[in-house]
Amino acid sequence: MPSTFLNFIGGEWVACRTSASFANVNPANVDEVVGLFQASAADDIGAAFAAAAAAQPAWAALPAPRRGEYLFKAAEILESRLASLGEEMTREEGKTLPEATAEVKRAINILRYFGGEGARQFNHQIPSERENVFCFTIRKPLGVVGLITPWNFPSAIPAWKMAPALVAGNTVVLKPASLAPLSALRIVQALEQAGVPAGVVNVVTGGGGAVGDAMLAHPALRALSFTGSTEVGNLLHEKATRRKLRVQLEMGGKNPTIVLADADLDSAAAILVNGAFFSTGQKCTACSRAIIERPIYQALVDRLIAKTRALKVGNGLEPGIEMGPAVDEAQLRTDLSYIDIAQKEGATLLCGGHRLTGGSYDKGYFIEPTIFGGVTAEMRIAQEEVFGPVLALLVADDFDDAIRLANGVKFGLSASIVSNNLSRVHQFVNRIEAGLITVNLPTAGVEYQLPFGGTKASSVGMREQGQLALDFYTESRTVYLKHTI
Ligand code: NAP
Repeated sequence: MPSTFLNFIGGEWVACRTSASFANVNPANVDEVVGLFQASAADDIGAAFAAAAAAQPAWAALPAPRRGEYLFKAAEILESRLASLGEEMTREEGKTLPEATAEVKRAINILRYFGGEGARQFNHQIPSERENVFCFTIRKPLGVVGLITPWNFPSAIPAWKMAPALVAGNTVVLKPASLAPLSALRIVQALEQAGVPAGVVNVVTGGGGAVGDAMLAHPALRALSFTGSTEVGNLLHEKATRRKLRVQLEMGGKNPTIVLADADLDSAAAILVNGAFFSTGQKCTACSRAIIERPIYQALVDRLIAKTRALKVGNGLEPGIEMGPAVDEAQLRTDLSYIDIAQKEGATLLCGGHRLTGGSYDKGYFIEPTIFGGVTAEMRIAQEEVFGPVLALLVADDFDDAIRLANGVKFGLSASIVSNNLSRVHQFVNRIEAGLITVNLPTAGVEYQLPFGGTKASSVGMREQGQLALDFYTESRTVYLKHTI
């Protein structure tokens, strides 16, 4: 019998009001139910917001360094369970065990980083024009914040939203993705065991539509931080702005890697394989377009295909596996449908392109890492997010053409260049329309202590992670204090 997991509301693990539940299935082995989770509705969200609102004044009154101590303790608790949490994540999301374990470690680092922010939270002291007047700013928490997270980083994203929100003095209501809720519950459990007061952290699982609508409509909601698809993000943006809520949206991408003619071809191929296929291409920062200068196109393609064909696809719990399954049947179908669309639009299938079948592949949603050549800028495979292991290759006539192609999409999350030409690299940094820019590195693989976020249709609102993350979760107040009358 699979375990049943409850909501966490007001310091108690509770069933949802209707007692309905949904199953979370292992995408590498659909016979395995990872757990049953609460299919919550508006009443449960109401209870979570009531608890969060009641707890917020006392939590905000606690000195920030003491709030930070809870995060340090939770990090220690998670670290003591690192191995089992990594394994659970592989079972619920499908990414390989090393990838999953590294993600839990990242969540731990995030809790420690923001625990430390409790003792920093720097403000400004600004000189006054007037005598005996002392001017400074202070940060105040917003109140109750709502957090909605996706399945692809089921531990890191809940951590990078909860940690800054909490250390700043907010209380939170979290709705994790239905395809991978367990990793988020484990962080909440660690916060509970660290002694975080009742009501400060609340988590409600359930379908995005029902739970999300109730969250957006709740009068106690002061701000919403969302990571997920552009489609859902746009919907939430409309609702949130109607209520004049502070809102932060991190959404899709169509991230390019430009490879210039001077690049080392083996390094470029390794960077592309890493960016496009690790985590099954299911990273918002994954590379889905390689833009290659014409003189090296064929030589790079040959290396790329050889490396891609050598990738080991399978159950991420098995040693040596480099790419796990698609997260569910719907995502697998999306991947396959884009493969079909690309061929119909005239792109050339260079490798992969099929669902993997036979033996243990029949138990899961496995797909070959796939590369298309002959892709032109207007094709859907060059414009739309697939969110799977599908890489489109475009030829650039020169550097300016490469920049034009790279910027010619609605998204602007991450972008990379492979080159040793210092001048070109600087021009790329200045001209590329992306929030995350890497040089001689994959488009994916960001670190927790630096700001994270995109531009154009990829993001709305302030940055996540690093010190800038606190800006979203706090309001600045300005004080003019005349100390001698
Ligand atoms: P999604 O379908 O948009 O879901 C994200 C979250 O929103 C889930 O918790 C989902 O709940 C919830 N949701 C769905 N419909 C909702 C509604 N009407 N109201 C409120 N909440 C709703 O995205 P996903 O498939 O989980 O994640 C993949 C997407 O996330 C990709 O587009 C990827 O690029 C993006 N992503 C972006 C970043 C970034 O930082 N830019 C990072 C990671 C992922 P259910 O799970 O219950 O449906």
